[in-house]
Amino acid sequence: MRLRAMAKINLGLDVIRKREDGYHEVRMIMQTVRMYDTLEIRKKQAPGISLRSNLPYVPSDERNLVYKAAKILMDEFHVEEGLSMKLTKSIPVAAGMAGGSSDAAAAFVGVNRLFRLGLSQEELMKRAVQVGADVPYCVMRGTALAEGIGEKLTPLPPMPECYVLIGKPGINVSTKTAYENLRLDAIQRRPDIDGMIAAIRNQDLRSITEKMENVFEPGIMEKYPVIGEIEKFMEERGALKAMMSGSGPTVFGIFEDREKMFAASEALKKSGLAKTVFASRIYNRSE
Ligand code: ATP
Repeated sequence: MRLRAMAKINLGLDVIRKREDGYHEVRMIMQTVRMYDTLEIRKKQAPGISLRSNLPYVPSDERNLVYKAAKILMDEFHVEEGLSMKLTKSIPVAAGMAGGSSDAAAAFVGVNRLFRLGLSQEELMKRAVQVGADVPYCVMRGTALAEGIGEKLTPLPPMPECYVLIGKPGINVSTKTAYENLRLDAIQRRPDIDGMIAAIRNQDLRSITEKMENVFEPGIMEKYPVIGEIEKFMEERGALKAMMSGSGPTVFGIFEDREKMFAASEALKKSGLAKTVFASRIYNRSE
């Protein structure tokens, strides 16, 4: 069985407060994009879980989120057969695109199907939060409002058709560092999440892009000016707006015009500003 684990971008990202248990409460507008890792899974006779990945620097043991997800379901349902998994990554790692979370979501969906466990999507989402706050969203996909620590989800109508150019500079920013550097009392601009929800309901792409904002961006961009340079590069070539996704450092640009996006993609590759460049489009739940 072969599954697609799709990446996400945050059209809006607000951090409300730090809870006493150390988790941060967020309000985010999530959007799945057509950039994906593939997860191949099959039964094997010997018990236990085996995992291979195409990237040597991604762990292939119980530290991998795919492994964690599979183990949660297999333990709960006392699955005695073994599971063999092969992960082929294309989503940049530690990039703010939920690659690991999406792989885990694919493992939940795949193991449920392969061993005929009979869990509904909602039941999978309940278990998924044990692996990570973004994993329930990655099971659901599409356009959504995420609240709580990211696990309280409200599906939204699909955002209007558009093209997404992704550019990741050759730097790494861990989510942990991004939170450590975020001074909640000093946030100057708050994203208008409710306004964006209204713009999505109105299918107004320009208004959606005007409201794109990410509270992590100013701090991370100050440290890594290349993020701002990639944004400017995309906007000068026709992006309605470009912004950093999640805790960074990946930048995405929203284009109405497909040709402009492809031209910007080629130019960005040549510029050397970004290490990974990927031309994509949004994914809707109804596809
Ligand atoms: P998010 O957008 O949720 O913050 P991210 O893009 O910052 O995610 P990931 O690529 O999901 O980060 O993974 C970050 C770390 O998690 C990596 O450094 C890696 O060692 C570990 N990891 C565990 N499982 C995976 C996986 N399946 N794919 C990638 N990294 C994984």
